[in-house]
Amino acid sequence: MKTAQVHGENIIIKEMEDISLNGRKGAIVRVLGCGLCGSDIVKFREKIVHDGAVLGHEIVAVIDEINSDTRFKRGDKIVTSHHIPCGECIYCKHGNVSMCEHFKKTNIFPGGFSEKVFVSEEHLKNVAHLVPADITDEEISFYEPLGCCIRAIKRCNLIEGDKILTVGLGSIGLLMSEGIKALGYKVYGCDLLEDRIKLANSRGIESYNSKDLDKFAEIIQEKSCGIDAVFMTSGADKAIDVALKVVRKGGKILVFSSTPHNNGYPNNEIYYKELTILGSYSPSPKDLEDSFNLITKKKVNVRGLTSIYPIEKIQQAFDDTVSNKIFKAYIKIGEE
Ligand SMILES: [Zn+2]
Ligand SMILES: [Zn+2]
Repeated sequence: MKTAQVHGENIIIKEMEDISLNGRKGAIVRVLGCGLCGSDIVKFREKIVHDGAVLGHEIVAVIDEINSDTRFKRGDKIVTSHHIPCGECIYCKHGNVSMCEHFKKTNIFPGGFSEKVFVSEEHLKNVAHLVPADITDEEISFYEPLGCCIRAIKRCNLIEGDKILTVGLGSIGLLMSEGIKALGYKVYGCDLLEDRIKLANSRGIESYNSKDLDKFAEIIQEKSCGIDAVFMTSGADKAIDVALKVVRKGGKILVFSSTPHNNGYPNNEIYYKELTILGSYSPSPKDLEDSFNLITKKKVNVRGLTSIYPIEKIQQAFDDTVSNKIFKAYIKIGEE
């Protein structure tokens, strides 16, 4: 079967031995397509994965072979995510499911950028869903990334009328903003790139250049005490300065991306303004279910965010994502 594998500085197309169930529980699926996640880029560029690794986890696929106690059958089109929490450890009990050891260990095999993937019985039971006919593959491929956003939004315990600022309007910043909007909160955005600001504005997300943030802070402080929660989806070192400028006293800063350097933390601002700083990493099965419902009930706008690349052009998809030429790549792998 055809796979895309990490090979030094490149992603190459390489044949790998075909997989089958061989008596195991679960399913072998034919991958129709797989979204390229920001975390795939980080793993590749920072060499977190070894040569031969198959990245990708945002898959849309058709079941080819199945041995399962679930409702799924051969020929079903499904969407699934890749990690499942145990539900019993100290992390799970406190709701930090993405810190669970079992969560980190579970995965689809060999990875989403592959013609075929093994999806375990546990995946089928907890995080897989049937894709309705009126949703496109690209739309439903936002199932896992939107799940991450939903989790972050829930972590903030927002209340009616809250104002949110998304710092960074790349694919995840836009998706986060669309999610916040879909859940009924007022969302603003900021970025340094004009075309991103323009796109966000055209989607109804009132957005500003981060350079003009003093002006934005003034506007927002005239209307209210400030921003209730700042979502840091930008991996830029300076994002925290932006957040501190606009967050109201008692407000929240939600950290949703890594930055190249650990900047220390703003001790005195956190103390005097009684701020809450939260991290949000990866979704629970319930967050994913919420994401699935928002997409399939068309309550969140995920259209027009993806650029489609055939698997043979996956290197181009990585390069174009890194150079901000596109928002989000969807790698097309198989036919229905
Ligand atoms: Zn992802
Ligand atoms: Zn656990």
